Amino acid sequence: MVVKVDAEKCIGCGLCVSICPDVFELGDDGKACIKNPRNCSKCDCKGAAEGCPVQAISL
Ligand code: SF4
Repeated sequence: MVVKVDAEKCIGCGLCVSICPDVFELGDDGKACIKNPRNCSKCDCKGAAEGCPVQAISL
């Protein structure tokens, strides 16, 4: 499973970072970026993808 963030859509709400901090982080531009795409140990990032309010996360 490889996860991607569409920076054009991301509004920087931080939800994915709080759900899956091993995978996501907020970059200097205030948008989510991928820290380590294979680091999800809990949910395969489905929780973050489903929770993202603007559907910026794809799996
Ligand atoms: S949950 Fe979605 S909008 Fe919020 S920071 Fe993550 S990618 Fe961006």
